[in-house]
Amino acid sequence: MAVILPKQTGTEEGKLLFRKSEIITGVSEGIKIVKNLKDTLDYYGGVGLAAPQIGISRKVFIVNIVSSGKRSELPDIGFKAYINPEILDASSETNTDFEGCLSVFYSTLYGQVGRPSSLKIKYMDIEGKKRTEDIYHPFHARVILHENDHLDGKVFLQRMKAEDFPNLHWEENLDIRKKY
Ligand SMILES: [Zn+2]
Repeated sequence: MAVILPKQTGTEEGKLLFRKSEIITGVSEGIKIVKNLKDTLDYYGGVGLAAPQIGISRKVFIVNIVSSGKRSELPDIGFKAYINPEILDASSETNTDFEGCLSVFYSTLYGQVGRPSSLKIKYMDIEGKKRTEDIYHPFHARVILHENDHLDGKVFLQRMKAEDFPNLHWEENLDIRKKY
Protein backbone atom coordinates (compact mmCIF):
# COMPACT_ATOMS: atom_id res chain seq x y z
CA MET A 1 0.00 0.00 0.00
CA ALA A 2 1.15 3.49 -0.73
CA VAL A 3 1.50 5.41 2.52
CA ILE A 4 -1.15 8.09 2.86
CA LEU A 5 -1.40 11.05 5.19
CA PRO A 6 -3.59 10.08 8.18
CA LYS A 7 -7.08 11.63 8.13
CA GLN A 8 -7.44 14.78 10.18
CA THR A 9 -10.02 16.17 12.55
CA GLY A 10 -11.58 19.32 11.15
CA THR A 11 -11.52 18.07 7.55
CA GLU A 12 -14.26 16.49 5.41
CA GLU A 13 -12.42 13.16 5.10
CA GLY A 14 -11.72 13.21 8.83
CA LYS A 15 -15.43 12.89 9.73
CA LEU A 16 -14.93 9.14 10.03
CA LEU A 17 -12.89 9.86 13.15
CA PHE A 18 -16.13 10.69 14.95
CA ARG A 19 -18.03 7.56 13.94
CA LYS A 20 -18.13 4.18 15.68
CA SER A 21 -16.21 1.51 13.77
CA GLU A 22 -17.68 -1.83 12.66
CA ILE A 23 -16.64 -5.29 13.89
CA ILE A 24 -14.33 -7.25 11.58
CA THR A 25 -15.82 -10.60 10.59
CA GLY A 26 -12.97 -12.21 8.63
CA VAL A 27 -9.38 -12.60 9.82
CA SER A 28 -8.04 -11.85 6.32
CA GLU A 29 -9.71 -8.44 6.33
CA GLY A 30 -8.11 -7.77 9.71
CA ILE A 31 -4.65 -8.80 8.48
CA LYS A 32 -4.91 -6.54 5.45
CA ILE A 33 -5.85 -3.52 7.55
CA VAL A 34 -3.10 -4.29 10.08
CA LYS A 35 -0.56 -4.27 7.25
CA ASN A 36 -1.78 -0.87 6.04
CA LEU A 37 -1.72 0.49 9.58
CA LYS A 38 1.81 -0.81 10.14
CA ASP A 39 3.11 0.72 6.87
CA THR A 40 1.60 4.07 7.85
CA LEU A 41 2.84 4.00 11.46
CA ASP A 42 6.33 2.92 10.36
CA TYR A 43 6.41 5.83 7.95
CA TYR A 44 5.16 8.59 10.24
CA GLY A 45 6.36 7.27 13.57
CA GLY A 46 4.25 7.16 16.72
CA VAL A 47 3.20 4.59 19.26
CA GLY A 48 -0.20 3.60 17.90
CA LEU A 49 -2.66 3.91 15.03
CA ALA A 50 -6.30 2.95 14.55
CA ALA A 51 -8.12 2.00 11.32
CA PRO A 52 -10.42 5.10 11.19
CA GLN A 53 -7.27 7.24 11.02
CA ILE A 54 -6.48 5.75 7.61
CA GLY A 55 -10.09 5.99 6.46
CA ILE A 56 -11.24 2.48 7.38
CA SER A 57 -14.18 2.27 9.78
CA ARG A 58 -13.29 -1.12 11.28
CA LYS A 59 -12.43 -2.22 14.80
CA VAL A 60 -8.68 -2.67 14.67
CA PHE A 61 -5.68 -0.79 15.99
CA ILE A 62 -1.97 -1.38 16.41
CA VAL A 63 0.59 -0.29 18.96
CA ASN A 64 4.35 -0.10 18.60
CA ILE A 65 6.03 0.70 21.89
CA VAL A 66 9.76 0.25 22.17
CA SER A 67 12.21 1.28 24.82
CA SER A 68 14.92 3.27 23.09
CA GLY A 69 17.50 5.99 23.77
CA LYS A 70 15.17 9.01 23.93
CA ARG A 71 12.34 6.95 25.40
CA SER A 72 14.19 4.56 27.67
CA GLU A 73 11.42 4.83 30.28
CA LEU A 74 8.99 3.02 27.97
CA PRO A 75 8.28 -0.70 28.30
CA ASP A 76 9.51 -2.90 25.43
CA ILE A 77 6.14 -4.04 24.10
CA GLY A 78 7.05 -3.98 20.41
CA PHE A 79 4.50 -4.25 17.65
CA LYS A 80 1.05 -5.61 18.50
CA ALA A 81 -2.25 -5.70 16.65
CA TYR A 82 -5.65 -5.70 18.36
CA ILE A 83 -8.59 -6.83 16.22
CA ASN A 84 -12.16 -6.37 17.56
CA PRO A 85 -10.81 -5.22 20.93
CA GLU A 86 -13.01 -4.89 23.97
CA ILE A 87 -11.89 -3.30 27.23
CA LEU A 88 -13.16 -5.68 29.90
CA ASP A 89 -11.93 -3.80 32.94
CA ALA A 90 -9.99 -0.64 33.77
CA SER A 91 -8.42 0.41 37.06
CA SER A 92 -9.93 3.14 39.20
CA GLU A 93 -6.36 4.32 39.70
CA THR A 94 -5.56 6.86 37.01
CA ASN A 95 -2.59 8.91 35.84
CA THR A 96 -2.33 12.07 33.77
CA ASP A 97 0.11 12.59 30.91
CA PHE A 98 0.41 14.49 27.64
CA GLU A 99 -1.01 12.96 24.47
CA GLY A 100 -0.85 13.88 20.83
CA CYS A 101 -2.36 12.18 17.78
CA LEU A 102 -1.41 11.71 14.12
CA SER A 103 -5.00 12.80 13.35
CA VAL A 104 -5.15 15.95 15.50
CA PHE A 105 -3.54 18.91 13.75
CA TYR A 106 -1.02 16.58 12.08
CA SER A 107 0.45 15.54 15.43
CA THR A 108 1.32 19.05 16.54
CA LEU A 109 -1.12 19.53 19.44
CA TYR A 110 -0.42 18.04 22.89
CA GLY A 111 -2.69 18.02 25.91
CA GLN A 112 -3.01 16.29 29.27
CA VAL A 113 -5.39 13.36 29.58
CA GLY A 114 -6.20 11.32 32.68
CA ARG A 115 -6.49 7.58 31.96
CA PRO A 116 -6.77 4.36 33.99
CA SER A 117 -3.29 3.03 34.82
CA SER A 118 -4.04 -0.63 34.07
CA LEU A 119 -6.70 -2.61 32.22
CA LYS A 120 -7.88 -5.93 30.88
CA ILE A 121 -8.51 -6.28 27.16
CA LYS A 122 -10.06 -8.99 24.99
CA TYR A 123 -9.17 -9.09 21.27
CA MET A 124 -8.31 -11.26 18.29
CA ASP A 125 -4.68 -11.44 17.14
CA ILE A 126 -3.49 -11.58 13.52
CA GLU A 127 -3.58 -15.37 13.60
CA GLY A 128 -7.26 -15.20 14.40
CA LYS A 129 -6.75 -16.37 18.00
CA LYS A 130 -8.91 -14.89 20.73
CA ARG A 131 -6.84 -13.46 23.55
CA THR A 132 -7.29 -11.76 26.89
CA GLU A 133 -4.45 -9.64 28.19
CA ASP A 134 -3.80 -7.75 31.40
CA ILE A 135 -1.99 -4.48 30.78
CA TYR A 136 -0.10 -3.26 33.82
CA HIS A 137 2.18 -0.61 32.38
CA PRO A 138 0.43 2.82 32.48
CA PHE A 139 1.92 3.92 29.14
CA HIS A 140 0.82 0.75 27.34
CA ALA A 141 -2.64 1.14 28.92
CA ARG A 142 -2.73 4.78 27.81
CA VAL A 143 -1.91 3.94 24.19
CA ILE A 144 -4.50 1.16 24.11
CA LEU A 145 -7.19 3.44 25.56
CA HIS A 146 -6.30 6.26 23.13
CA GLU A 147 -6.49 3.90 20.13
CA ASN A 148 -9.62 2.18 21.40
CA ASP A 149 -11.26 5.61 21.72
CA HIS A 150 -10.65 6.06 17.96
CA LEU A 151 -12.81 2.96 17.36
CA ASP A 152 -15.55 4.61 19.43
CA GLY A 153 -15.29 7.82 17.41
CA LYS A 154 -13.41 9.86 20.01
CA VAL A 155 -10.16 11.80 19.94
CA PHE A 156 -8.07 12.66 23.01
CA LEU A 157 -9.32 16.27 23.09
CA GLN A 158 -12.73 14.91 24.12
CA ARG A 159 -11.11 13.19 27.11
CA MET A 160 -9.46 16.35 28.41
CA LYS A 161 -10.63 18.20 31.48
CA ALA A 162 -11.42 21.88 31.03
CA GLU A 163 -8.80 22.73 33.66
CA ASP A 164 -6.06 21.18 31.49
CA PHE A 165 -6.80 23.24 28.37
CA PRO A 166 -4.50 26.10 29.42
CA ASN A 167 -1.62 23.59 29.22
CA LEU A 168 -2.33 22.55 25.61
CA HIS A 169 0.79 23.14 23.57
CA TRP A 170 1.82 23.22 19.95
CA GLU A 171 4.87 21.37 18.55
CA GLU A 172 5.30 22.73 15.06
CA ASN A 173 8.44 20.68 14.35
CA LEU A 174 6.44 17.44 14.78
CA ASP A 175 4.07 18.24 11.87
CA ILE A 176 3.75 14.93 9.95
CA ARG A 177 3.18 16.79 6.69
CA LYS A 178 6.91 17.43 6.70
CA LYS A 179 7.39 13.70 6.11
CA TYR A 180 4.70 13.39 3.44
ZN1 LIG B 1 -4.90 9.17 17.93
